[in-house]
Amino acid sequence: METRNVVILGSGCSGLTAALYTARAGLAPLVIEGHESGGQLSLTTLVENFPGFPEGIQGPELIDNIRQQASKFGAEFMAGTVREARLAERPFLLNVDGEEVRTRSLVVATGASARWLGLPSEKALIGHGVSSCATCDGFFFRGKDIIVVGGGDSAMEEALFLTRFASTVTIVHRSETFRASRIMLERAREHAKIKWVTNAVIEEVLDVAKQEVTAVRLRDVRDDKRWELPISAVFLGIGHIPNTSVFKDQLDMDEDGYLLTRDYVFTRVHGVFACGDAQDRRYRQAITAAGTGCMAALEVEKLLEEEGR
Ligand code: NDP
Repeated sequence: METRNVVILGSGCSGLTAALYTARAGLAPLVIEGHESGGQLSLTTLVENFPGFPEGIQGPELIDNIRQQASKFGAEFMAGTVREARLAERPFLLNVDGEEVRTRSLVVATGASARWLGLPSEKALIGHGVSSCATCDGFFFRGKDIIVVGGGDSAMEEALFLTRFASTVTIVHRSETFRASRIMLERAREHAKIKWVTNAVIEEVLDVAKQEVTAVRLRDVRDDKRWELPISAVFLGIGHIPNTSVFKDQLDMDEDGYLLTRDYVFTRVHGVFACGDAQDRRYRQAITAAGTGCMAALEVEKLLEEEGR
């Protein structure tokens, strides 16, 4: 079996940037695409805050561009997800859907996936009024009434951010107890545009037939009373899940599964670097993911050069 110089896990902004850099350095990286090829950007519409695109760029197009750029320099791509990683000794051994891949260095750019409610109607309307990213999509709902789901800091932060655009932001939370920090909760409570629906869950997002969000059907969890709330957008603020479970017991991670790194991208295993949302619970932007992807690639280059590769 061939031993690769570098394998990159993940094909989002971070992984593809690492691929671009290592490819351009002549390392012929192999990108394992993962279960959400293209990462979170491929789920958004217009990206207006990625530098270099004054008119904005569609998320999927941006991803496709970086992918082409990496391919041009010799990056290779493999569909599939890593099921097992043996990092105890180098070269590292990966099991990609049953196929073995061996590599001298590894970049973990497996990202994080937004937590969704899991409703079919929600899924059908992603990108048409259902979003998990206020920073990406808030702008499109200027002057509209919208909902933010969740009771943690993410939900409060999204709701506060969205007040810049929306006429009203209704926070829908499934209980009366909030996980959000006191300061964030207070800030949201004091905001004139923010309204509250507690002890309620969304049962359905309408209107799939029209391909736009027109309302949600809510259910009060105490008495099962149901009602419809007219609305133009639903933002999920119920957390993210880093895609790192395959590295449990091998790489250090915090209690929520975010990989812990030192000097930005170094994991505790020599030759394994982590970048993007898998190790960043704080910024989670396309540009910061690209930034740490670049850092990881430069460290791979340095390591392999030191080893005479
Ligand atoms: P949290 O886990 O703190 O909160 C998630 C919220 O979503 C909870 O209110 C939870 O409800 C609700 N929720 C989860 N699943 C569902 C579901 N299926 N249906 C309805 N509601 C659901 O996640 P966050 O992303 O808010 O925060 C993660 C971490 O990041 C925290 O440590 C937070 O402090 C930090 N953070 C800090 C920020 C800041 O300081 N500026 C900004 C954003 C995040 P329930 O409580 O009932 O379980």
